[in-house]
Amino acid sequence: MSSTTSLYIPVRRAYRSRLDEVDWDNLETGMYTTDHMLICDYAEGGWKQPEIVPFGAFSLSPTTLCLHYGQTIFEGMKAFRTIDDRIHIFRPDRHYERMVRSAERMCMPAPPPEVFHEGLRRLVEVDKEWVPGQTGAALYLRPFMIATDTRFGLKVSDSYRLAIICLPSMPYFAKAVQVKIEQTYVRAVSGGTGYAKCGGNYGGAFYAAQHARQEGYDQVIWTDGVQHRYIEEIGMMNIFFVMGERLVTPALTDSLLDGVTRDSLLTLALHKRLIVEERRVSVGELKEGLERGHVREAFGAGTAAVISPIRAIGIDGVNYPLAVVGEGDSGESVALLLKNELDDIRYGRQPDLFGWNTYIDVPGSI
Ligand SMILES: *Cc1c(COP(=O)(O)O)cnc(C)c1O
Repeated sequence: MSSTTSLYIPVRRAYRSRLDEVDWDNLETGMYTTDHMLICDYAEGGWKQPEIVPFGAFSLSPTTLCLHYGQTIFEGMKAFRTIDDRIHIFRPDRHYERMVRSAERMCMPAPPPEVFHEGLRRLVEVDKEWVPGQTGAALYLRPFMIATDTRFGLKVSDSYRLAIICLPSMPYFAKAVQVKIEQTYVRAVSGGTGYAKCGGNYGGAFYAAQHARQEGYDQVIWTDGVQHRYIEEIGMMNIFFVMGERLVTPALTDSLLDGVTRDSLLTLALHKRLIVEERRVSVGELKEGLERGHVREAFGAGTAAVISPIRAIGIDGVNYPLAVVGEGDSGESVALLLKNELDDIRYGRQPDLFGWNTYIDVPGSI
């Protein structure tokens, strides 16, 4: 997992920074990328020299395989600036392990750990002015890999490009969502690619959300692909319920994405002495729990939004409302408690008890 010798990565600097073009007060994630990106190519059975270069377009032949057969994977993580002005990347080791699993499932070579870790560290160091510091703000880091063979054919590619780009992300109010239980379309099935962060999983999932929106919902809660009976995820996030005194989340299977946020929240919940259950949750159990008020909270969890509260769940055309406690409201909320605990660690307000913050000013520390 860790490398002690740090890899040398040449940096070709941008002529001029675009930092002064950023309107930080009206910034939505996705509007800006930082000045630099990392690129590392794979060909003839080996990885080439990684490089940090000015952010810019790739030039791809129309025959490039990733454009046709979907051999693409990605990761999403964040770098934070703490209250004492140090910068760290949150749990890069977990993201690396997941990227290796995604690569294996898509018949792609695993990125070398030192390229991934030192690449992220150096890139964030080079673009450190872009890491915002307010609570809720971060620099979103997007490593991804694409099949780059240009010899056309329906086959596993022999060459690949690994790249990392960075996008500043400001705090935003995660609006509570109204969602429906999806029992027609599926995101993933047992034996499929659900546990991998591969492009095709997303392209195939938009359709269900689009239909749900026509019915007045913001998103769908996915159920299993065989019986449509067990809850899996919400949109592109993991899902949690507060049932009575318990924090419940579906157990991982090969059709669920093993979220780093999910794992962090479970760890924090145990640390806070909550009762935690990872198990199967059926639509029937959820419906019954909503009817008798046993389900007190429901929320999605993922790197981008951190926690996305659910204000209503539609099951068979009936909407079951849920209480949502917002920031600054009085009232108990497990979602808010866990989010605050996580923020306290990320912004350095509380000790990093679990060793999650990987500081970029410590070369070779990852
Ligand atoms: C990325 C992702 C998640 C959340 O994972 P995090 O590591 O917490 O960001 C959950 N579900 C799906 C389908 C995802 O793609």
